[in-house]
Amino acid sequence: MKLAIFTCNPFEENCYIVHGADGSDAAIVDPGMMAESERDHVAQYITAHSLNVKYILLTHCHIDHVASADWAAQHYGAPVMGSADDLYLVDRLAEQVQRFHLNIDVPTFSLDRELTDGEQFTLNGETVKVIATPGHSRGSISFYLPDTNAVLTGDTLFAQSMGRTDLPGGDLHTLLHSIRQRLLTLPTDTLVVPGHSQPTTILAEQPLYAT
Ligand SMILES: [Zn+2]
Repeated sequence: MKLAIFTCNPFEENCYIVHGADGSDAAIVDPGMMAESERDHVAQYITAHSLNVKYILLTHCHIDHVASADWAAQHYGAPVMGSADDLYLVDRLAEQVQRFHLNIDVPTFSLDRELTDGEQFTLNGETVKVIATPGHSRGSISFYLPDTNAVLTGDTLFAQSMGRTDLPGGDLHTLLHSIRQRLLTLPTDTLVVPGHSQPTTILAEQPLYAT
C-alpha cells in the first residue's frame, strides 16, 4: 500500500493516509490537523484519489496526533480506533491544549473500537497488526503492515531518536523495552514510519539500542 504523508500543526506531526490504488479503501493515521487548511489538504487528497476512508487509526492520544479525530470521524463516518489505555489523554484534551498554549478548540471523541496488542484487521486485503508499544504514553501502539513492509510507530521510535517520556503516563524504561522487544525485532528491512520527522528502517535504528 501507499503511505501519503501530511505534516501538520506547530509540532510538525505526520498524519498518514494509507491506501491502495485509486478508488480503494484507506486509513487515516493520526489526524493531527489543527488548521482548516490542513484538513482541506487531507480531504482534497482523499477526493482526488477517490478513497473510501474505512478506519481512523490513532497511535496515541496526544493533542498533536488527534486534534482532528472528531472531524475525521464525522466527515468520513469511519470508526476511530486506538488503545483504551490512552483514554486518560482523551479525558485531558483541554489540559493538553493549555499545556502547549494552543489557540484551538478540540472537540472530544470516543474510541469506536478499542485495539489490543496482537490483534489484526485488514485494509485492502492486507493485514494490519497492532503492536502495543507503551512508554511515550500508556496506550501507545504501532501499526505493522507486513505486506507493505512498514511499521507506523507514532512517537515511540523516530529516526535516530525516540519519543519523550516526561509527559503524563510516559516512562523511559517501558519505552526502551517497547523499542527493543517489540519493534527492533521486526525484519531489519522494515520501513519505520514515525509520527514526526523522516522515515528510517529497523536496521538503521538497531545500533542505537544495542546493549
Ligand atoms: Zn506524542
